Amino acid sequence: MINRREFTRLIGGVGLAAASPVLFGKPAIAKASGKVVVVGGGAGGATVARVLKSEAPQLDVTIVETQPIYTTCFNSNHYFGGFRTFASLQHSYDGLKKLGITVATDTAYAVDTAKKTVSLAGGKTLAYDRLVLSPGIGFKWEAIEGYSPQAAEIMPHAWKAGPQTLLLMRQLEAMEDGGVVVMAVPGNPYRCPPGPYERACMIAHFLKTKKPKSKLVIFDAKPTFSKQAAFEEAFAKYYGDIIDLNLTNEIDDFRVVKVDPATKEVVTKSGERMKAAVANIIPPQKAGDIAHLAGCADGDWCPINPDNFASTKVKDVYVLGDSSIATQMPKSAFSANSQGKSVAADILADLAGAERYPARYRNTCWSLLAPDDSIKVGASYKPGEKDGKAYLEASGGFVSHPGESAQVRKQNYLEGRAWYHAIIVDAFNDNTALVPKG
Ligand SMILES: Cc1cc2nc3c(=O)[nH]c(=O)nc-3n(C[C@H](O)[C@H](O)[C@H](O)COP(=O)(O)OP(=O)(O)OC[C@H]3O[C@@H](n4cnc5c(N)ncnc54)[C@H](O)[C@@H]3O)c2cc1C
Repeated sequence: MINRREFTRLIGGVGLAAASPVLFGKPAIAKASGKVVVVGGGAGGATVARVLKSEAPQLDVTIVETQPIYTTCFNSNHYFGGFRTFASLQHSYDGLKKLGITVATDTAYAVDTAKKTVSLAGGKTLAYDRLVLSPGIGFKWEAIEGYSPQAAEIMPHAWKAGPQTLLLMRQLEAMEDGGVVVMAVPGNPYRCPPGPYERACMIAHFLKTKKPKSKLVIFDAKPTFSKQAAFEEAFAKYYGDIIDLNLTNEIDDFRVVKVDPATKEVVTKSGERMKAAVANIIPPQKAGDIAHLAGCADGDWCPINPDNFASTKVKDVYVLGDSSIATQMPKSAFSANSQGKSVAADILADLAGAERYPARYRNTCWSLLAPDDSIKVGASYKPGEKDGKAYLEASGGFVSHPGESAQVRKQNYLEGRAWYHAIIVDAFNDNTALVPKG
């Protein structure tokens, strides 16, 4: 548990201001009017809505979100390791409702970009002046033969947090000691680049402490991954007898291409077959369905203008977070939250005719390896140009490396915890998150 003073001290160090930046003169903002519809009340969408309504209370802001309660993917790996309760990952929309934001618990299934309306499964049609899409990810089920939403009930992905997270945990708990857990990791790009390896540490920690005869076999579609040196050091140091990491190389393609939910068998491209006691299959991904339906996608993901995350394909529509092509910026909650502030700033400038300021973004991702041992990676980003194309230029990058002191790693752990609570306050206006619940 951390107290408020500790929280404030740490948050000073993690670079996430709890409040949105002061972007405009208040008199100009007071003139902003119009209807903003935000589809997806996750890390990106909630941030946009919270900043818009805090800065310009007269704006009509509606979030359309399928789930009544948001379960964060971020920090959900900690649950597998026993470092968080499931309840501590769940957050209501009460804080946003208190600000005057309308929260429609419903699913957007169509967007008419000519009429500027969004149709909801519940029967309502919402008109918008500006539409914000932050629907997270969809899965490319067809990329793995035998995998499907039904198969995921037996071989969970747990890459969207909620029932899938609970399912994977229940399976790990029910597994006999000596069982093999198999994890399939996709190629780039996908949600949370270091996430699978943090998950590997957390599952391995669970196995080491509860079922020490068990193994975790990772089949990875890539040859390299985020924070690799520090992760590999941790695999060897803490989980040498448990984790078997198989990276794709010139000889072996360890991409999982086929699964059989009836036998829990997993097959790789190069023909390796393994029967799992628990199979965690993380499939390749794409932008959330509604972003495709709105015509914002080009291939799997949605191109945006890096100055403001406006769709380059559809007028008056913004796409941020995991669904967007943010070039160098990884698909993370920190990124989505940072992008959300620029989206809100742009909408306020547009609707109020206020001055625009150059966009600046930031990301840091912490990963927990073992008790009090976390690593991090991050950078700042600004709009730039490369080979005649707009992109986000990284600067000031940093990454944890092997051999760091226990003190540095513990500080990383505390920073990561403080960041979690800061982003929940910042995106969801949920002050109860100041004191960790689990
Ligand atoms: C295991 C794991 C660990 C992670 N750890 C970290 C971490 O430590 N740090 C970090 O920064 N990031 C982390 N991430 C990544 C982070 O969770 C995502 O990058 C982030 O949530 C993206 O925000 P988003 O707004 O794009 O999508 P989301 O937060 O997923 O929000 C999308 C929302 O849209 C809703 N939605 C979708 N379609 C519709 C529709 N048609 N109608 C209504 N609602 C809809 C969904 O229900 C969802 O609530 C992790 C991810 C995973 C899987």
